[in-house]
This record gives sequence, structure tokens and C-alpha cells, in this order.
Amino acid sequence: MNEEQSPRSVAVIGSGMTGLVTAYLLHHDPLQRYQVRLLEKRGQPSLSAESVAIPSQTEAKTTVWTDVPMRAFAAGFYSNLMRMYDYLGVKYHSQPFLFSFSRLDSNPSSGSGPYMVHTSNFHQIPPVPRNRDLFQWIAEGIYVLVIYLWFTFCCFFVSPSEPSASSPGETLDQYLRRIRLPEYYVASYLLPLISSVCTCSHQQLLQFPASDVLEYKKRTHRQNHYVVTDGVHTVEEKLLQGVDVRLGVNLTSVSPTSNGVEVKARNSNGEETTDLFDLAVLAVSPDIVTSIFEPLQSTLKHIPTTTVDTIAHTDYSTISTMLRASGKGSGAPFRNPSSQRIHFLSNTSNTESIHEQPNSILVTTNPLSSIDPSKIIKSASFTRVLRTPQSRLLINELFHEDGKQETSGLLSNKWRNGDNGVYLAGGWCWDGMVLLEGCIVSAMRVASDLGVEIPWERS
Ligand SMILES: Cc1cc2nc3c(=O)[nH]c(=O)nc-3n(C[C@H](O)[C@H](O)[C@H](O)COP(=O)(O)OP(=O)(O)OC[C@H]3O[C@@H](n4cnc5c(N)ncnc54)[C@H](O)[C@@H]3O)c2cc1C
Repeated sequence: MNEEQSPRSVAVIGSGMTGLVTAYLLHHDPLQRYQVRLLEKRGQPSLSAESVAIPSQTEAKTTVWTDVPMRAFAAGFYSNLMRMYDYLGVKYHSQPFLFSFSRLDSNPSSGSGPYMVHTSNFHQIPPVPRNRDLFQWIAEGIYVLVIYLWFTFCCFFVSPSEPSASSPGETLDQYLRRIRLPEYYVASYLLPLISSVCTCSHQQLLQFPASDVLEYKKRTHRQNHYVVTDGVHTVEEKLLQGVDVRLGVNLTSVSPTSNGVEVKARNSNGEETTDLFDLAVLAVSPDIVTSIFEPLQSTLKHIPTTTVDTIAHTDYSTISTMLRASGKGSGAPFRNPSSQRIHFLSNTSNTESIHEQPNSILVTTNPLSSIDPSKIIKSASFTRVLRTPQSRLLINELFHEDGKQETSGLLSNKWRNGDNGVYLAGGWCWDGMVLLEGCIVSAMRVASDLGVEIPWERS
């Protein structure tokens, strides 16, 4: 920076993982060219806002954290997230899972229990549920294994159709039909598992670009899953060090002007404020961008979003049939030092997942069965950004993804990321499933566009 030049002011809007990483990178610019202000409408930074702390029963720790929602990651897919965690010194550990699959009964306590239990990466022989006849279970297991191997083969060797002049690209539904994956397997295993990763309905998942799911499968194949050992609040603390944060500031409009980017907000007292920044980074979901940034109002409405509820509770009756089938007895928390259980309960269109935590809390995502209100510790709603082949094309156009020739036909003006000092970032701002890796990649893109070195790329 020229000695006479003062740093450029940057408003980073949103304190999810994306906003935190963007603010961190710009704030730590070795040349100190940016003065960052992180603006968040909530009363606390949002990455760990819904996490639950419970007093520990062991002497080694005073509290045990449950991240709500889950912030798991896997080697292979999350290379930038893991390099950032390593650079920041965030502790994480490998977390094997035991998945149980059940059909949703109108009365969960009288339900028939799981029809299959399977382990992540085959890390142990799956236990036989007590409710299943051994031979039936073996037959089902062989069937599932054969179809799984076929699906895995296809992921690696049968590419999805790429976008062309006549089609925006293949949906997951079209791909699964093309490779003739049996409907029973799709409905009983594939959709429950992947719709829980994407926290959306089965139908919404089937409209995803096939490439998203295949890429995720290929990159995570036989890789370990991990979680942050002491909860993502430790990540939040490290990323926020030294950053100027303003909480309770609800952005109402972001408008490029000839003097800079005008940012209007309403604070928690209802007062309207207007500030001028040199640059603004919108680290929010696309539905929020449409409401505050006029140039993309008519464009980003084509990116679908949904709302998902997550409830942290101790109502063990919601998993009593699964516990009975595993011989644990109704109401007794299942504890296993190495693996954690995730129960998938599906009807024909949706799956609820119930994650047993080591501190005896259950975290239900997308609840379909009722939970005793007196046992609810915390409930939260999240916006989830969905994907379609068309929205994928649109996002690639906005971010000038190299080599992507086809256009969505949805971009009503010539606005591109970074024009007039406004940048977009978020879990959805990359060509892949909307997960934490997209947050890091898009935050790194903003920093690179502004000439800031990424410290975890140095070594
Ligand atoms: C239930 C669930 C489970 C998940 N599990 C995983 C998982 O295990 N692994 C994984 O990798 N990913 C997971 N994800 C996805 C991942 O959590 C998201 O992709 C990621 O959190 C998105 O972060 P973000 O910073 O882009 O956006 P957000 O987290 O949505 O942050 C946006 C921020 O902007 C703020 N904001 C919004 N409007 C305004 C405004 N007008 N003014 C000021 N501030 C505003 C919001 O309050 C929020 O803090 C899960 C998601 C959900 C919902």
C-alpha cells in the first residue's frame, strides 16, 4: 500500500462461516489494505449461535458442545476447510457413524424398527437389528451391497450429461434412471442418506444436478468423516480475533454509488443508518441478496431455497424402537466411545434424521414425528440453498467459472461478481453441494480477487 493511501473500508455482511472467513482473510492482509467491519443482524455471530453447551460428566472438560446444526466434514471434499483448520490450529477428530434406516410409522414407539443398520466406511460389521430375521437381513444386506457397488462404479465411470444448448444438464433423477438404479434402493437408502446431508425433501434432491452428488460421492469415497473436537465456537473465536463486529444490524439495502457502496441498515433499536464503504461482501443466502441488492433482484430468485428445522432435545421415545432393536432398552442413551448413531426415519417424500450425541442430547433435523415440548432444549430454523442444473449454470456465470460455456438464460443483466465493489460469497457460491467447503472457497475467491494472500495456501 502507498504510504499516503488509507485502507479501503469493507463491509462484510453475515457472520456464518463465509462471513467469518472473508473478514478474517481481509483483516489479516499482510499489507493491511483493508479495514473490515462485519455486520450481522442477529445478536451473536451465527456460526455457533445454536450450538448447545452441556456440563461435562468427566473431569477432563467442563463443558461438552453439541453443534447445531451438525458441522461435519470429510477428507477429499473439504480440502480447503481442513487446511484452514490446520492453519488456525483448530482441533478436530475422526468421527465414525452408525446409520440406521427406518420407515416412519404414525406412532414411532409402536414402529417396526430399522430395516438396515450400516456403518460409515464399513468401519465395523453392522449389528443385526433384533427386529429382523437373520436370513432376511443377510439377503437385504447382500442386495444393498451389490447395488451400492454398482452406484459407486457409475459415480466413477459413468459421467453425468454436461449442459448443452438443448439442456441445462442432467438432474440426479435423470441420472439414476439412466444407470437403472432400482427404485427400492433409491427410496430406501440413497434418498434418505443424501437428503439428510442436504437437509431437503427427496423430490428437491432429485432435482439437484447429478454432478453435485457424484462429485461428493467420488471425493468422499472411503474417506474419514471429522468433527471439530470442542465445537465450532472455537473456530468462530479464532476467526473473529481483532475483527470489528457489529451485531444486531439488519441490512436493508446495498447500493453501488459513484462514491462507494452505500449500506443501509436498521439496528436493534429500530434506527435507520446509512454508511458508505469502498467495498461490500454479501455473505448471505441468495433470497437475502434479492431483498437487499437491486441489481440481482430478478436474477437470484431463480435459486431455490428451503427452510429446515433442527431441534436439540432429550425425548428418547423418538428413537425407542431403534434402541429396542439394538438391545439398548427404551429410554437408555446409547453410548459408544467411537461411533455415533444417526437414525434416518423416512416417509415417501421426506427423511428426518436423529443424531445421538455423546452428551446424551438428541439432535433431530427436519422433524416429522412429534417431540415432547418439555424435553426440547433448543429449536432453530435455517435457510438451506438448493441446487438445480439451471441454478448451477447461473451461479457459474456469476462467478466466471472457467471453461463453463453454456449459459442459464436467467442472468437479466451483465452484473458479475465484484462489479461496482460488491462481492457475493456463501456456501452456495461455487460449483458444488452447498456445504462448508463452498463457504471457504468463495471467501478465498473474494480475498484473491482483492489481491490478499491466503495463508493456508502458503505451504
Ligand atoms: C441443518 C443443517 C445441517 C448442516 N450440516 C452440515 C454439515 O454437517 N457439514 C457441512 O459442511 N455443511 C452443513 N450444512 C450446511 C452449512 O452449514 C451451510 O452451507 C453454511 O453454514 C452456510 O454458511 P454461510 O456463511 O454461507 O451462510 P449462513 O450461515 O446462512 O450465514 C448468513 C448470515 O447472514 C446473516 N444475515 C442474513 N440476512 C442479513 C441481513 N439482512 N443483515 C445482516 N445479516 C444478515 C444471517 O443471520 C447469518 O448469520 C448444514 C446446514 C443445515 C441447515
